[in-house]
Amino acid sequence: MGLVVQKYGGTSVGSVERIRNVARRVVKTMREGNQVIVVVSAMAGETDRLINLANEINPEHNRREHDMLVSSGEQVSSSLLAMAIEALGAKAISLLGSQVTIRTDCDHSRARITEIGGHRVKQALNDGNIVVVAGFQGVNENGDITTLGRGGSDTSAVAVAAALNADVCEIYTDVDGIYTTDPNVCDQARKLTHISYEEMLELASLGAKVLQIRSVEFAKKYGIPIHVRSSFSDSPGTVVCKEEECMEKAIVSGIAYSKNDSKITICGIPDRPGIAASIFSAIADKGIVVDMIIQNISADGLTDLTFTVPKLDYGHALETIDEINDRIGACEVVGDRNIAKVSIVGIGMRTHANVASRMFAALARENINIKMISTSEIKVSCVIEEKYTELAVRILHQEFELAGEDTNEDD
Ligand code: ADP
Ligand code: ASP
Ligand code: MG
Repeated sequence: MGLVVQKYGGTSVGSVERIRNVARRVVKTMREGNQVIVVVSAMAGETDRLINLANEINPEHNRREHDMLVSSGEQVSSSLLAMAIEALGAKAISLLGSQVTIRTDCDHSRARITEIGGHRVKQALNDGNIVVVAGFQGVNENGDITTLGRGGSDTSAVAVAAALNADVCEIYTDVDGIYTTDPNVCDQARKLTHISYEEMLELASLGAKVLQIRSVEFAKKYGIPIHVRSSFSDSPGTVVCKEEECMEKAIVSGIAYSKNDSKITICGIPDRPGIAASIFSAIADKGIVVDMIIQNISADGLTDLTFTVPKLDYGHALETIDEINDRIGACEVVGDRNIAKVSIVGIGMRTHANVASRMFAALARENINIKMISTSEIKVSCVIEEKYTELAVRILHQEFELAGEDTNEDD
């Protein structure tokens, strides 16, 4: 008998009929001789609805109350799924994060899991139950409910699988695996059979929301393979695993995009030690995360600094610069919210020299201007005008010949 953890996302539990469909799949897995833990997201659209309500009531609401509210979506779906399983004649119990116990730090709305108890889950499994865990939530040292950030149910599932030493961790979603790029943007996207933790970490952090970044970090740390697949079919999906287990090492294995960032340029600041430190420590003190940074060469002792921050923090970042401008003496501050970041990712890039230049040339052929560039060992990212995002994804997919049969890319 194996221990199987299955996670079902919002679309997969988005209606009564879909919850019944999940119940049938889960019961089938149990009747095949397994113990089953199911982690669920809130029903599709519910988390957004709750966040909108909170913003309407009080846009400056505190994060503890935010978590009390948004965690309720998963309470609803987990209990409904337990009822649907019982209706099929199997035993089930739903448990909240606090009942599991999924302990987290106190950083409300983006809490990190610190420890998982699991005693109650084991007992419930041994009593013959399918255990349905409310995803996305945990409990902090004060006994308050916390949430794990958008997409956090993926992390709940992988963390529970690690803590209970599960044999399998399956993430069921609305696509049937991980593709070379978002299949909803590029119809040439091809399903991968395997992808390494490193590549998936990059894709997730560069915008591919199919898995939350922290779930991949967890899986990598504990060596848990994640099988991403569809809740609407039985076709095999994609396994996220160690690099050694990925048969082929593609130069570029995937393309990600993100429209979540905005760009700020501070013009005419003195080119001397301490200026960058003043700017970025003031921004960090507000809890704003800066992604790319470029500093121009200096002319006449003055320089320009360009960086990106999440669109949600754009106004806040501009206010912060305004507050410290007495100290830094900038001539002008220019912002741009209409940007997107398009990235190519692949472990084969480590050993190939011309990947970045091919990317730039492909964008140039479509007359897409590159505003910022950043690179790492296994990725190249370009900031471009937001309106060209989908076009850029498609032409890069073509440039790196990612379309094709349902096997991993070779080089
Ligand atoms: P769930 O609600 O099941 O958690 P999400 O909406 O969070 O599902 O993630 C699935 C979505 O991720 C897909 O519908 C797809 O649009 C998007 N996506 C982005 N990049 C990729 C990719 N490379 N492969 C597959 N899906 C991707
Ligand atoms: N319901 C949460 C969200 O929409 C968590 C999740 O679905 O993974 O972000
Ligand atoms: Mg998700």
